[in-house]
Amino acid sequence: MNAEQIQASTSSATSIRVGVLGFGGLGQAAARVVALKQEMILVATADKEGYAYKKDGLNAQDCIKTYNSQGSVGYLEPFGCLTTNSIQDLIESRSPVDGYFLALPNLPNDFIASVAKQFIKSGWQGVLVDAIKRTSAVEQLLAMKDELAGNGITYMTGCGATPGLLTAAASLAAQSYAEVHKVEITFGVGIANWEAYRATIREDIAHMPGYNVETASAMTDVEVAALLDETDGILVLENMEHADDIMLELAGICSRENVTVGGVVDTRNPKKPLSTNVKVTGRTFEGRISTHTFTLGDETSMAANVCGPAFGYLKAGKQLHNKGIYGILTAAEVMPLFVR
Ligand code: NAD
Repeated sequence: MNAEQIQASTSSATSIRVGVLGFGGLGQAAARVVALKQEMILVATADKEGYAYKKDGLNAQDCIKTYNSQGSVGYLEPFGCLTTNSIQDLIESRSPVDGYFLALPNLPNDFIASVAKQFIKSGWQGVLVDAIKRTSAVEQLLAMKDELAGNGITYMTGCGATPGLLTAAASLAAQSYAEVHKVEITFGVGIANWEAYRATIREDIAHMPGYNVETASAMTDVEVAALLDETDGILVLENMEHADDIMLELAGICSRENVTVGGVVDTRNPKKPLSTNVKVTGRTFEGRISTHTFTLGDETSMAANVCGPAFGYLKAGKQLHNKGIYGILTAAEVMPLFVR
């Protein structure tokens, strides 16, 4: 047995059984993150063309190898199933899963909300976690609060890096102040090639002047590559529609107009073009104005800063679910729990 298999066999009795929906850049990184944990086991993965399920734990490397060589985890023998309706079919298989991380593209902008509806309709109960980015996408999910609560689902939204880790950091930093004036999030992302994160890059392009979600999702791979050629592989993003704003507003920290998000993505170099940070400015009870800055280490990748928090929130969501707390919560109102 290799280390991963030993871990699966010793931890399967008590571990949180997780599924990863979407097996591109973030989905594969998520599987690798779970492989190192004792408190979680990866039992299900799904992509556009199939799914795989194994009750005592899938081997992350086998899933990744199969996906990259054959195009779908559905080819994984004997645990895979080929289907173009993978999420629905996985839910209907009634395979026990405690929580899913939705590492899916949100293209179109209501796709993740439509996946949440599938879970609601099926009668499945458990924890769902997304790393969704747009304010309008989070608003669609917030509107489903009662349906989620009524169906025994604990839905954790905006639980990646931004929104997610940085929004939670802003929520923590706000505690020093009597009044929060400004939250400024600036991210730097470096990836070796854009094709490892197609959805992320398309969704980023959708924020650029002259583009929107529809036009960006309709772009072919050749068109995306041509656009990146024009910019030397660099995307500069300003005043993005990012759900950190509504999440911080809902948490009562500041109004959404006082939250800004922007960043630089280098699609040809894994080195970050700038250090990701969040600056939280406010006034203390003594009347002093100050700024807290939380900066991520440059060595941490986008995948590390998205998948770590996503599972931290899944663990927190599972504890809430066990206590009968259902509905929808954001990364700004719950502390993620470190997964051992
Ligand atoms: P990707 O393009 O690399 O992979 C997408 C995966 O989803 C593929 O495996 C594809 O087969 C699968 N998929 C597509 N449609 C499907 C369907 N109908 N059913 C089942 N599977 C389906 O995506 P990525 O770059 O890893 O990004 C995933 C998401 O993560 C994006 O929405 C992105 O915006 C988000 N993200 C969030 C943050 C954050 O900090 N919050 C950061 C980066 C990315």
